[in-house]
Amino acid sequence: MSTSVESFADLGLSESLLKTLSEIGYETPSPIQAQCIPILLDGHDILGMAQTGTGKTAAFALPLMEQIDLKVAKPQALILTPTRELAIQVAEALQSYAKNLPGFHVLPIYGGQSYTIQLKQLARGAHVIVGTPGRVMDHLERKTLNLDNLKTLVLDEADEMLRMGFIDDVEWILEHTPEQHQTALFSATMPEQIRRVAQKYLVEPREIKIKSATATVAAIRQVYWQVSGLHKLDALTRILEVEDEFDAAIIFVRTKTATVELADKLNARGYAAAALNGDLNQQMRERVIEQLKSGALDIVIATDVAARGIDVPRISHVVNYDIPYDTEAYVHRIGRTGRAGRTGNAILFVAPREIRMLRTIERATRQPIAPLTLPSRADVTNKRVAGFKEKVAEVLNAEGLEFFANIVSQLCEEQNVGPEEVAAALAMMAQEGKPLQIAGEDPVPPRPMRESRGDDRRPAFGERKPRFEERGERPRFEDRGERSERPRFEDRPPRADRPPRPAPAGDMVRYRIDVGREHGVEVRDIVGAIANEAGIESRFIGRIGLYEESSTVELPAGMPAEAANALKRTRIRGVPINLRQDEGRPTGSFGGERKFGGGERKFDGERNFKKKKFDR
Ligand code: AMP
Repeated sequence: MSTSVESFADLGLSESLLKTLSEIGYETPSPIQAQCIPILLDGHDILGMAQTGTGKTAAFALPLMEQIDLKVAKPQALILTPTRELAIQVAEALQSYAKNLPGFHVLPIYGGQSYTIQLKQLARGAHVIVGTPGRVMDHLERKTLNLDNLKTLVLDEADEMLRMGFIDDVEWILEHTPEQHQTALFSATMPEQIRRVAQKYLVEPREIKIKSATATVAAIRQVYWQVSGLHKLDALTRILEVEDEFDAAIIFVRTKTATVELADKLNARGYAAAALNGDLNQQMRERVIEQLKSGALDIVIATDVAARGIDVPRISHVVNYDIPYDTEAYVHRIGRTGRAGRTGNAILFVAPREIRMLRTIERATRQPIAPLTLPSRADVTNKRVAGFKEKVAEVLNAEGLEFFANIVSQLCEEQNVGPEEVAAALAMMAQEGKPLQIAGEDPVPPRPMRESRGDDRRPAFGERKPRFEERGERPRFEDRGERSERPRFEDRPPRADRPPRPAPAGDMVRYRIDVGREHGVEVRDIVGAIANEAGIESRFIGRIGLYEESSTVELPAGMPAEAANALKRTRIRGVPINLRQDEGRPTGSFGGERKFGGGERKFDGERNFKKKKFDR
């Protein structure tokens, strides 16, 4: 770890939050937490360069929670996020940190969710609002959200908000919040526009940047698996089973709770595994390491701190089950293998949203990390069969087989079958409890992740399960169910990074909406509203015609009813859009401006519109 802060208690957090952190299994602050928490507790503004996976949510959430007056049921903190998924995740994180704060209420509000529900929830009162810019702006305009009591404003993933075209909304919100509040702006990158926003709205901000120190790693084979299609646990056991050089492994997770859970699950699958975390006293810790050395244990599941300094030459594999917070932690972790002149293997599990961290690690270690193809069912079966044959071959060379050969002859005679059939029956008996073939399907391999086109973006709607689903928990916020039924549109990078492209292929249907230029609406407002409310990525939004009183927009045929319903209820600039299929010809003068791919394309009137047909 790149920080000397060893404990959350050193950061100035209250007893109740410290208790919660210990209960949820956070042992030590991540580097960004160690840096941000004291600064925010001191009341300063922060400009933080940090990406997903660094622990930034807790870095801003914990200090802002310290400032909440629970007796005042009014929004005292507002967190803006680019997507509804992130809004929900952040709200969930806050809810989990509020375990020992009775009456604490956090509310996620985002496009696509019914206004009726949101209005009810807002009226009930919430201490913290986590929302997407468009919807927050809407509520502020309608005066259904009042920020008079605001103490903290957080802009999370600001560059992503910029990329998605929400920066004007964000600035509008910043303009409409009371002067006196603390502001924290987090962004993985710091493009000029974000810097400008920071200069304009942050007061003497402290700049926080997690250093990614370059380091060289020993000759360790480094690979990553893109988490997709299979639970991490199943992937882990498949990989461990076919890895040729497997002898012993150390598996890194983030929380002490996770060390215990994973150890239990691996034990249940027949592995000799144990947890190693900060709850173990020195004697117990030494015992675990001794057992790993002697071979009584093959796998140890550890947190960063607990695994420091472990030197066990037989560790052939380090698995980063949860990605580390920074490159330094990565280098420390993988340094547990490849010791005493042996070869080492480091396997990293990377969720799509963590791709940026993967690239940062590669840059810092100056070594590429190769993608690992998940072993197929056939691979695992072949490996098991090979192992089985080896065992049989050993026994074939052993003494004292006559007695059994005699039994086989008797069986052949009595059952009137050949020796192969008897051998097959015996083989079947022998695999009981540990079948040679694994059940289930092979997952479809994921599309490769590319950084340059921004694939670490938040996924499109429906692409990623929110964390509560990954954890197998039930949603805590009322109307989450709707999200999983949303259309799943193809993977694609965010707008600003993509080249202009032709209109989407496939059948399109033209719709009319009751907002136009006279309402101050621009093309990007329409794209933003549709993207946010119906979860349709802008790629799938066809031509848009912007007229005086109304506009037309082409959307993919076969839009799910739910998305259509969401759009029927949508307002743009406060005006109900009243989406319906468009039968007639466009009316009014056209002077639309289509913003796309980070650039602008201007269309100058009806003639151009007809000729170009809103060519994108
Ligand atoms: P974030 O970067 O905020 O999205 O956090 C990434 C993950 O790290 C989440 O699953 C958090 O629950 C987890 N996490 C954050 N801080 C800590 C910590 N100090 N100890 C253990 N896990 C943490």
